[in-house]
Amino acid sequence: MAPTKDGEPPLHILFFPFLLPGHLIPMADMAVLFAARGVRCTVLTTPVQASTIRSVVDRANGSSSSSAAGTPMSISVVPFPDVGLPMAAQSGRDLATSRDYHDRFLQTVELLREPFCRFLSDHHADIDAVVSDSLFHWSAHAAAEHGLPRIAFLATSMFARACTDTVLRSNVFESCSDDHGAVVSLPGLPHRVEQRRSQMMDPAKRPHEWAMFQLIHAADRSSYGELFNSFRVLEPGYAEHYRATQLRRRAWLVGPVALASGSLEDVASRGAVAGALSPDAAVCLRWLDAKQASSVVYVSFGTMTNFSPEQMRELARGLDLSGKNFVWVIAKGSTAASSDPSTPDGFPTANRGYIVRGWAPQVLILNHPAVGGFVTHCGWNSTLEAVSAGVPMVTWPRYADQFYNEKLVVEVLGVGVGVGAEDYASCLETHRVIAGEAIAESIRRVMGEEGDGAAMRKEAKELGVMARGAVEKGGSSYDDVGQLMEELIARRSSVGC
Ligand code: UDP
Repeated sequence: MAPTKDGEPPLHILFFPFLLPGHLIPMADMAVLFAARGVRCTVLTTPVQASTIRSVVDRANGSSSSSAAGTPMSISVVPFPDVGLPMAAQSGRDLATSRDYHDRFLQTVELLREPFCRFLSDHHADIDAVVSDSLFHWSAHAAAEHGLPRIAFLATSMFARACTDTVLRSNVFESCSDDHGAVVSLPGLPHRVEQRRSQMMDPAKRPHEWAMFQLIHAADRSSYGELFNSFRVLEPGYAEHYRATQLRRRAWLVGPVALASGSLEDVASRGAVAGALSPDAAVCLRWLDAKQASSVVYVSFGTMTNFSPEQMRELARGLDLSGKNFVWVIAKGSTAASSDPSTPDGFPTANRGYIVRGWAPQVLILNHPAVGGFVTHCGWNSTLEAVSAGVPMVTWPRYADQFYNEKLVVEVLGVGVGVGAEDYASCLETHRVIAGEAIAESIRRVMGEEGDGAAMRKEAKELGVMARGAVEKGGSSYDDVGQLMEELIARRSSVGC
């Protein structure tokens, strides 16, 4: 590995990702990015999670110019906590199908504390910083005990972070009725932001989630700084707002991390358990090859979305009514019987639609020239992957940060149309059913060749160019990586004195 300028060993960062794919994938990509800059990176995780990032790590080690002198990336594996989950459910992809799996999985947040602390006790002298998922709030205390800077990784947008920060600090619910249509104003942000109360995590309805949210937030505030998978021009004014104007917090925007970590083919299978993509994947890509440019809408809702049979029927009807070509990813649960949702009986895919069951090569599909729109739940990774590919979105948020991400996409960036989701409800709760007509209308608007469709497509393409520019040498995300590295090196000297 490349030593630092004065002959000292390279920086060593410990990455500690949360176990769910939406957190694990970007953190592994982020480690690749630091490894490519000469940082030694160790990812501490559990066996199934290790299998989903193994290809990424192998590639980083194979392609790094410094690998001749050492291995830039490694994975340290700790056992999956004993919460009674079968191996097949340990990837976390069944959470949306079973309350039992969901609750057991979340117990791992606490149970990973002990192996993490043990790892720090054994290795702290050799580590410069810990990048921990924000959900592991206790890692702030553990890192501090060993005199290590803890950098929180937030698997969300800077925009959503700034909004939730305002919600936590400004008591915004106090002056707001709790009618379904009540609107909450979030003061002090670079844009005027108003959100329906029904689309927000409401402390009156979710006191336990809210308390956890406060705990996590407090740990992040006490940390050395925060890392975001985003880039400056995507969230105009929010990095400055967060860093300087209001909150005086350290934050680095180093994304889109998926773009920085190799070719499209390289990232295709990342996140698939043991690297196993859906058997439909290759056929799907060939099917796309035969379609006209921008003529296909890609439909996928990440790893934690569960639709009722009625909503599945309406979605199928919407795709049919839209008249557009589509690729629809239907996540295939690995264990629970109910987790293998099927399309409604008699659903006519004909030559117009292709269904992928299982793990799709999402980044490859989004970047295929035939894809002209993305129906998404607005998980931050999916959102950023669409932005990077220059693809406009039909936004269909469900919970967590997704409604804020929708606001960023539709109102701030102008690269999407909302499908009309109004109720914040987790993957295990019921949602108001969105009618096929509304779905079809949003798809037609986003895929339209005239009017706002054309404007959105143009805007999205420009954002895609800016995303690539951000991670190139001299781009804002490239510079933020360098800045963090310099700070950590400077810290090393000051701590050593
Ligand atoms: N993903 C994928 N193939 C799939 C499903 C998901 O590659 O079939 C990836 C997707 O590209 C993204 C991540 O899984 O990187 C999902 O993260 P996101 O934040 O969008 O949603 P979450 O699953 O966390 O709700």
